[in-house]
Amino acid sequence: RRAETAILATFGQQPVPEVAMQISSDFDSGNIEVLDAGNPQRVLLAIRPDLNSHHFQWFHFKVEGLLPGQRYGFSLSNAGESAYNQAWSGYHTVASYDQRDWFRVPSRFEDGALQFELEPREAQVWFAYFEPYSRARHDGLIAQALERAGAELFACGQSVEGRAIQLLRVSRNQQAPRKLWIIAQQHPGEHMAEWFMEGLIERLQRDDAELDALLQQADLYLVPNMNPDGAFRGHLRTNATGKDLNRAWQSADARETPEVYFVQQQMRRVGVDLFLDIHGDEEIPQVFTVGCAGNPGYSPRLAALEAEFRRRLLASGAEYQTVRGYPLDAPGQANLTLACNAVGQEFDCLSFTLEMPFKDHDDRPVPQTGWNGARSKQLAEKVLGVVAGMVDQLR
Ligand code: ZN
Repeated sequence: RRAETAILATFGQQPVPEVAMQISSDFDSGNIEVLDAGNPQRVLLAIRPDLNSHHFQWFHFKVEGLLPGQRYGFSLSNAGESAYNQAWSGYHTVASYDQRDWFRVPSRFEDGALQFELEPREAQVWFAYFEPYSRARHDGLIAQALERAGAELFACGQSVEGRAIQLLRVSRNQQAPRKLWIIAQQHPGEHMAEWFMEGLIERLQRDDAELDALLQQADLYLVPNMNPDGAFRGHLRTNATGKDLNRAWQSADARETPEVYFVQQQMRRVGVDLFLDIHGDEEIPQVFTVGCAGNPGYSPRLAALEAEFRRRLLASGAEYQTVRGYPLDAPGQANLTLACNAVGQEFDCLSFTLEMPFKDHDDRPVPQTGWNGARSKQLAEKVLGVVAGMVDQLR
């Protein structure tokens, strides 16, 4: 290389800088395969499937050795075969120069590939399916909850690969009659779910009258990350044995789905008066909730509670809507392997899946960022307010 530079210098040309573009994903929640990086205008990439599973959609990688101001193009060539291959239209890739400030890069779904171009400002950039919530940040969040939000480590489970699954309890009144459960990121690629939990925990740090009233009536049980193996491995959907945790609530066992098994055991020990399971949806560019209308035990009482929750969340000014979402299950036809349905049925309680978008909340679009961590956190604060307002009615 030095000789080459010397020859160029001899011929009186500008020495070419020694830049070699490098693409890596060998880090927390990293996922990409490089197929052909020979043409920087069209770098060919592929998303790796989850371990022991055919699902894929989540990607996260770092590109280094870029020349700022040059134009680079990237093509996720197998996007058309991903788990939700209808979800790419209207989707824009997330990018960051510093892993703090994440912005959207205009992207298009063409010829079965997700394609985007960038003229980087810096020599390195990270790309991801959504603003990643790292395991390091998770560790910080647990410490923050314990030190500043009045939480205690109530119990701790273990993932297949031995990562901790913390169950936090916030209890300010030993006689509090209600037990409220909120769990997040069963689907490991749905990083907005742990951003939501961070918003919840930050609100718990700021004591206010509404929260105080809530915590006189109820203990909170929080699982900020249900699927740490999948998240770390850059999975979309499954844990390290290839199991979809949100299809395991009728069959959880200590070997293949210890994450669900642990939480179910704790729920049976404690009881559940309200359950929220926090997710992200690949296709629908809106925040929405999914209730238990198809459960065999669904009743007018539960229907009224669901309606009241939705009404209050709308009235709170949260980024939320009730027009778009999943079709309602027919009566008695619910899939009881889902956490929301299983818990709602077993404990006869108000139970929701809450879905946030990977794209944007189209009722109030913010093209620069799309839906992101900050908006997930704001939503959590509103949800906690709604829960506070309803705690008296739950039983
Ligand atoms: Zn999900």
